[in-house]
Amino acid sequence: MGQENLLPPQVGAQVGRPTLVLDLDNTLIDGSVSRPGLDQFLHAVKDLYEVVLFTAGTRECAEKIVDEIDRKHGSIAHRLYGDSCVDFVIKPAALLGRDMKRVVVVDDKPEMFKKNVENALPIKPFFSKGNGDDEDEELLKLIPFLTLLAKMNDFRAAIFEWKKQKTQKSSSSDGTAVPKKKGGATTKKKSR
Ligand SMILES: [Mg+2]
Repeated sequence: MGQENLLPPQVGAQVGRPTLVLDLDNTLIDGSVSRPGLDQFLHAVKDLYEVVLFTAGTRECAEKIVDEIDRKHGSIAHRLYGDSCVDFVIKPAALLGRDMKRVVVVDDKPEMFKKNVENALPIKPFFSKGNGDDEDEELLKLIPFLTLLAKMNDFRAAIFEWKKQKTQKSSSSDGTAVPKKKGGATTKKKSR
């Protein structure tokens, strides 16, 4: 017996579009504060992707704020809540009912998508300072890549490369995005 898909078939303008799955908390917002660049980000992706908001939170908690975001942009095609998660900790992207070649997931906790690692783009978590003085460009930085990605037939190799580059950058510069492995940098043992 097949598992039911989390999403209905695409209709209207959404038909044939790739799917962008967005986490809510600490990806798009922190509490009631929108991440800087959110408006510009949604505006940039809404006509390229079928945008799916997928939060592990409950509908009761999340619905109002998603309404608020969507009222401005009308950019969110579907919403999924905690009741679509597996054991509250896994967001089963493979059950969306979409071609996984053309699904990309943006989440500050990519481990939520550990069954679909090849589709997940990690983003630094956003924590607002709460004084209207947030300087964060992580969403804006994703726009060029997501714009390119939308034209590809299979996202997974490009996502892999993007992550590899980010890992290299962060380990060579600020080191914030990637936790250092215990035991420090890999050093080649001298042979013999
Ligand atoms: Mg999150």
